[in-house]
Amino acid sequence: MIRRVMHTFTTISDWRRFRRSVSGVGPLLFVPTMGALHPGHGHLVTIARQTAGPAGCVCVSIFVNPLQFGPGEDFSRYPRPLENDTALLRQWHTDVLFAPSTAEMYPHGATTVAVDPGPLGEIWEGKLRPGHFRGVCTVVAKLLAIMAPDILILGQKDFQQQLILRRMVRDLNFPVQVLTAPTVREADGLAMSSRNRYLSAQERPRAAAIFEALRFAAAEIRAGRRKVAPLVDAMTETMRRAGLQVDYALPCHPETLAACDDVVTEPCVLLAAGKLGSTRLIDNLLTPDPKPV
Ligand code: AMP
Repeated sequence: MIRRVMHTFTTISDWRRFRRSVSGVGPLLFVPTMGALHPGHGHLVTIARQTAGPAGCVCVSIFVNPLQFGPGEDFSRYPRPLENDTALLRQWHTDVLFAPSTAEMYPHGATTVAVDPGPLGEIWEGKLRPGHFRGVCTVVAKLLAIMAPDILILGQKDFQQQLILRRMVRDLNFPVQVLTAPTVREADGLAMSSRNRYLSAQERPRAAAIFEALRFAAAEIRAGRRKVAPLVDAMTETMRRAGLQVDYALPCHPETLAACDDVVTEPCVLLAAGKLGSTRLIDNLLTPDPKPV
């Protein structure tokens, strides 16, 4: 077994010096995160490690990006357990942790130039969180310029986000290949998320209703019951019964994210989001199931 030392960089200049020293040795794989790491992130790092091979370099960033949080959202209370995250990244055989401060990323305050996520950034999550995807695209564009990876690894958990970032990479010619990794779930189906730790003991079992709604709709579609209205009603009702305040729950086209009208045609993505108490939950399912990465 190759014993690896994990390098931690907090400044762009130190990272770039190291980057030059490993350039050409093997592929550089990059997993951007906001930290508060869980096995969902771990799966992305594992895919990176497998893809990298022994000569490749697996880099993970931890940066809670203020630009993607709206006023009244959870930026200040977002968990930042850096010591625990560092230990997990070592266990997952990460080569590089890039953990810059806000001042390092935004030395002149919020950027005056930003990346416009386009029409996909205006629907669903984008409509409920104005400016969110502009913040996401801008920070990921900066991170791609800084890290200069060969492969970027994103999670299907944030379906709309990975779609917009793929579009950004394509439209702006970033020289990077994008891989989307499947969602890692708790035993009851709840998608793992850093925000799940906000859930109270009473809320936690009810949070699985979002997955129950998605799974039910996927089974209905597979069984040929494809009328949109009853599917939307059933999904919404399953989530409501568990106490969720539903933002949206519906089948959409997996490339345009346009809502399916009247009858579902496959492939489609089932999108669902809502609030349980003060915790926002989002999840999705593709039907038919995608091939594993
Ligand atoms: P975050 O730290 O929440 O910004 O997430 C960082 C990356 O991990 C994003 O590409 C997410 O889509 C991905 N991710 C988050 N939760 C999961 C999960 N449960 N399974 C797989 N990937 C995930």
